[in-house]
Amino acid sequence: MKIALVGAELEENLGLRYIASTLESKGHDVEIVPFNSEHDISDAVKRVVTFSPQITGLSMMFTSRAREFCRLAQALREGGYQNHITAGGPFASFNSEQMLKDFPAFDSVCLGEGEHIVSMLADYPEDLSRVHSLCYRKPDGSIRTNFSTGNQDDLDTLPFPKRMTFHEYFDKPIASILTSRGCWRNCAFCSINAWYERGGGKKFRVRSVESIVAEMKDLYFHHDVRIFNFQDDNFFLPKPEHALRRFEELRDGLKHEGIEGIAIAVKARPDSITYDSIRVLDGLGLFRVFLGVENAHENGLRNLNRKCTLDQILNALRILNDFDVHLAYNLLMFEPDTVLDDILVNLRFIERHIENPFNFCRAEAYPGTGLEVKLRAEGRLLGDYFGFDYRLKDPRSEAFHQIANYAFFDRNFSDFGLHYFNMQVDFYYQLLRRFHPEVLMQTLRAAVRNFIKQTNLDTYECLCQIYDFVATADANDHVMVRGFAREMRERVDERSRGLHSQGERILRWLSDRYDRRGKDVGVKRFMSNTGALSFLNCKPMPYSSRDSLEKLEFVTSKAEWMDEADLLGVASSPIPYNIFKNRFAEQKEERR
Ligand code: SF4
Repeated sequence: MKIALVGAELEENLGLRYIASTLESKGHDVEIVPFNSEHDISDAVKRVVTFSPQITGLSMMFTSRAREFCRLAQALREGGYQNHITAGGPFASFNSEQMLKDFPAFDSVCLGEGEHIVSMLADYPEDLSRVHSLCYRKPDGSIRTNFSTGNQDDLDTLPFPKRMTFHEYFDKPIASILTSRGCWRNCAFCSINAWYERGGGKKFRVRSVESIVAEMKDLYFHHDVRIFNFQDDNFFLPKPEHALRRFEELRDGLKHEGIEGIAIAVKARPDSITYDSIRVLDGLGLFRVFLGVENAHENGLRNLNRKCTLDQILNALRILNDFDVHLAYNLLMFEPDTVLDDILVNLRFIERHIENPFNFCRAEAYPGTGLEVKLRAEGRLLGDYFGFDYRLKDPRSEAFHQIANYAFFDRNFSDFGLHYFNMQVDFYYQLLRRFHPEVLMQTLRAAVRNFIKQTNLDTYECLCQIYDFVATADANDHVMVRGFAREMRERVDERSRGLHSQGERILRWLSDRYDRRGKDVGVKRFMSNTGALSFLNCKPMPYSSRDSLEKLEFVTSKAEWMDEADLLGVASSPIPYNIFKNRFAEQKEERR
């Protein structure tokens, strides 16, 4: 049978790729059709109609894109596609009955993980009552939801996800990979967790280390993948000692297979981070951690059901910053019961971690989450299933949120938003540092650090201005609040433009250094590279005179300067990554 799977493909869509490989292992012919935005509707329709599959599955993950997918289903019908259209993912599964009532273009909705459900759909296209975990429209127009057998328990039995093409960073292919599904926590805002619960069965499941190593081996040797982006919602395990053992086994397994010289990126909860675990991951090539800080006030942590303390968050940041990886985090600074004091504590947190790229927003009430249940029970839930909304209980905090949301709209939420771009610059820098430390220099490191700090400081300063405004103004004076929000937006956007250009120059600089790898990129050459200096608008001032600067003896042989380097930042030349790490670990051991 021919089956088309349609979904976002900005990075490898592992959800679709797992379904595709499962279906192909059963002899079906599968085509994955990218659908990244509304502009792709006509292309997606053309591809599906040309392929002419018996089943088309739409991956409806996020509420924000749900309407686009509904329009796509409608466009498929208008384009002449008459076969079965099913939908899956958190949005579709939580709104299955309503969606089938409101949008006749859909025939069914898969309520859990897709591998098994779509396989059964392919097995029993004429008798949908036999397809577990399916919600569908019967011939008489009524909606029926079948019994759910729960999500796949043993992840090792799934075929590896279908691989097609790979993005590259610095000519190194990157692959997304999953070592687990689900999560053992239950944060009040987490739609992913709610979706796994909805699917039934065990909420948290892990693959064996052997299975992970086997997949990485295939990617490494057959596709030259060198960057592994672990997409697990939390790469760790509930117990730190178990996580440590698992990472050690992973390290040993990869070493045994000859997999080396890789870089890995993971996501983590702060309470999962321990020095020992990060040391092992660092040895594996850890260059990026996305840390779920979410809130720095104990009220916020409690209301979001984070089950994590501020001490654990601070400890995690300290450890990760000591390891000098790309560490980015998100703050859900606003939740239904936020008050101004909570915001103040979060501002202080931003100030204290000004060197780490971050972003902030409000905790949303997605279907199936604790927040949705709470707000509904309190009669505070607004909007409809295409986007629930709410107002913060405290009027001043609500005014703060509205102003910040408007003023930072582009900086926080657009595809090229400055906070996202900030993360990108650091991401590129850390990758280059991992793979080609010899082309880097301290000045470039300083430029990256400076860019991150300037962005964060600017955000911090604007947020402080908003704080001062709402702390004293009448939050119910909507004219004044709107006027202030407009002013703030102009100011934020103007500064964003300048900072964006600064980041672009750094990216060009990074790419220029990469292009010059293998050539003479020693300090002498760099010092004559006035182009690089001028584009940063930072003219280094010679401390004595031009003559004395030229008389300085720069060491060009690697071995010489490595021995003498001050490893924590004052060396005049780039510090090779491994040297930095080893020396840092030694110092850490000494301090322990
Ligand atoms: S820890 Fe992360 S994945 Fe787990 S429930 Fe909380 S937000 Fe969701």
